[in-house]
Amino acid sequence: MNIGQEILEILKEEITESEYNRYIKQLVFDVKKSTADEVYYYAPNALVVNWIKNRYTEKIAHLFEVKTNNKVNVKITLKNLVDKRKTKKIVEVKHGNSLLNPSHSFSNFMVGGSNQFAYAAVKSVSENAGKVYNPLFIYGGVGLGKTHLMQAAGNVFQNDGKVVIYTTVEQFLNDFTRSLRNNSMERFREKYRHCDVLLIDDIQFLSKKELLQEEFFHTFEALKGEGKQIIFTADKHPKKIAGLEARLQSRFEWGLVADIQPPELETKIAIINKKCEINKVVLSKDIVNYIATVIDSNVREIEGILSKLHAYSQLMNVDIDLEFTKNVLKDQMAEKRENLTMDMITEVVAKDLNIKPSEIRSKGRSKNIVYARRISIYICRELTQNTMPQLAQYFGMKDHTAISHTIKKINDLIKDDEDFKVKIDELTNKITAQT
Ligand code: ADP
Ligand code: MG
Repeated sequence: MNIGQEILEILKEEITESEYNRYIKQLVFDVKKSTADEVYYYAPNALVVNWIKNRYTEKIAHLFEVKTNNKVNVKITLKNLVDKRKTKKIVEVKHGNSLLNPSHSFSNFMVGGSNQFAYAAVKSVSENAGKVYNPLFIYGGVGLGKTHLMQAAGNVFQNDGKVVIYTTVEQFLNDFTRSLRNNSMERFREKYRHCDVLLIDDIQFLSKKELLQEEFFHTFEALKGEGKQIIFTADKHPKKIAGLEARLQSRFEWGLVADIQPPELETKIAIINKKCEINKVVLSKDIVNYIATVIDSNVREIEGILSKLHAYSQLMNVDIDLEFTKNVLKDQMAEKRENLTMDMITEVVAKDLNIKPSEIRSKGRSKNIVYARRISIYICRELTQNTMPQLAQYFGMKDHTAISHTIKKINDLIKDDEDFKVKIDELTNKITAQT
């Protein structure tokens, strides 16, 4: 037995059998790579890596020190980097093209009070292309099912033999600039104007792109004129998207504007059950309830957790119990927070309020800059581990009293102003959805 395994045997005596079997037993010591100062263990997946890193590295290091009289650095890493690369590729292909995702169907979409209106609108459009609500504009927060719903309609149209174009504003922009550069605007127009249905995702990114808006406007007019169905999504109501031409804004509201709200508990439970069914994961009722209660709104996050649980049960061939679920969630939350930086936060806030991130950190005193700065400070305080002096330094404020003053102000506002509270919640959701 090598020293690395020996240490694990000692550790075995100090922990419960189930913990040993689940985690420690998975570790493989790398004899070749390890030195007197640095020892390497491999784990089969990221979950076990995190688990052991958070709970056992110190212990293992201590045991080494006792045994060898030498202070060692313990490294826990993933066993097989090739596997990791493979899975990444699959994900990229899935998100990289603009084809419709067949699992984004109406039957896979769980309906509850929060999304009933949007669902009914999209469903009705899918049964009466170009005839009922044209355009249909769906808006709502990150990960609430806008793309899913839009593509569900797209799938129905496609199955009816219609030519469907699904694109995001970003892809539309890329296509547009490429066509301008290659002198192939004819072809660009031909493509977008000769479809039966146009689905455009994430309209908020049209903001401030004047040239693109101009082209977009003409595409819209041409399609609408011929009674072709158009569906848009955005993260906010057309009225709230700044830097949008008035004529576009008004056209977005011509048909029907429908919102999606964060799901209530029952809807979350229904969604989790559906995802389990699709992914063939079996979870007990108490686990489903637990996940639904802990995750506040973003459905994408629910999926992340399920796939983690799924990967774990597959790789280790064990059942998922409540205790394990709790730990996975705790790890996920901690990880999320660790990964969040003040840069990321100011970037999201700046984008949302249509100013530059650098302005938030500048000495600018104009009203909207001060507003954005205060919000950023508050959210940084909530979501990161930075101290008041660190915040003061980052935001160019005099000292920590200026920071605590700002935070008090925002807290007061949240108490007095429901709209403001909603705004902060929205931003916080957006930021946590990024990690
Ligand atoms: P958005 O476009 O609003 O950011 P998505 O449509 O990409 O959100 O949804 C994120 C994930 O959550 C998708 O995988 C989607 O299938 C799932 N999802 C969201 N809402 C529902 C729902 N009501 N029922 C089933 N799955 C949902
Ligand atoms: Mg989307």
